[in-house]
Amino acid sequence: MADRFLSGKTALVTGSTSGIGLGIAKALAQAGARLVVNGFGDVDLARAEIEAAGVDTLYHAADMRRPAEIQDMMNMAYSQWGQVDILVNNAGIQHVAPVDQFPVDKWDDVIAINLSSAFHTTRLALPEMRRHNWGRILNIASVHGLVGSADKSAYVAAKHGLVGLTKVTALETATTGITCNAICPGWVLTPLVQKQVDAKAQSAGVSVEQATRMLLSEKEPSMQFTSPEELGQLAVFLCSNAGNNVRGVAWNMDGGWTAQ
Ligand code: NAD
Repeated sequence: MADRFLSGKTALVTGSTSGIGLGIAKALAQAGARLVVNGFGDVDLARAEIEAAGVDTLYHAADMRRPAEIQDMMNMAYSQWGQVDILVNNAGIQHVAPVDQFPVDKWDDVIAINLSSAFHTTRLALPEMRRHNWGRILNIASVHGLVGSADKSAYVAAKHGLVGLTKVTALETATTGITCNAICPGWVLTPLVQKQVDAKAQSAGVSVEQATRMLLSEKEPSMQFTSPEELGQLAVFLCSNAGNNVRGVAWNMDGGWTAQ
């Protein structure tokens, strides 16, 4: 049985009903943490997969565009379980268009979900973490927090902002038992990326398999996707004692994307 070193801790993972958030939630649960689940889609299935690790879950449907709902989710975690020890800011969306054609409402949504929501959860989590003098804040940024790609202005701006927020939060907590770090994946085959593969297959008139190879070969030297399970293990490491003095990093797991 895996080391349950997070037993007794509460983790809150935004956007944990799918993809990377679900992978990280499952890994934290396998390490013993109980989980506050958030996001849309098949909530029951996600909760069942997390609870299979033998931990309890709570669910809150907060829309990460809405600060009042985020506050309500944090309040629920505190009133039900008294604490949020591990905060994973993962919820995110993508929209692809040239900057001069980027729909204004999509810009606002991407910035709200991928960046501002992490400010709100962080400001609401820190006072209790300070009281316990322990906490882990993991911001799921992206290689797009470090480099740009055409047609992703809002996403790249939000992810660069999230890496900035990570550094400032890490500095403000540097003398405490709270750490804040960013994780920067390259391509991970989740519903968010499957949409981009399908769009490429359609626009280039090729099969989904060919579009997948095209997508990887443009950016990712390893020609391999990172998996949510691999990202989950990195999150568990950052929550361990070995991660006590890892502060303010933007940690790539990108098959060599940003080494180029
Ligand atoms: P996904 O679409 O599989 O999951 C996104 C999650 O966020 C879902 O649970 C969804 O319900 C939730 N969500 C979306 N809008 C929301 C909202 N308004 N309020 C609350 N929850 C909301 O996507 P994913 O690929 O797992 O992405 C997760 C994170 O990882 C995102 O921040 C994304 O930018 C980042 N990321 C993904 C990749 C990749 O290749 N897939 C690479 C780098 C970074």
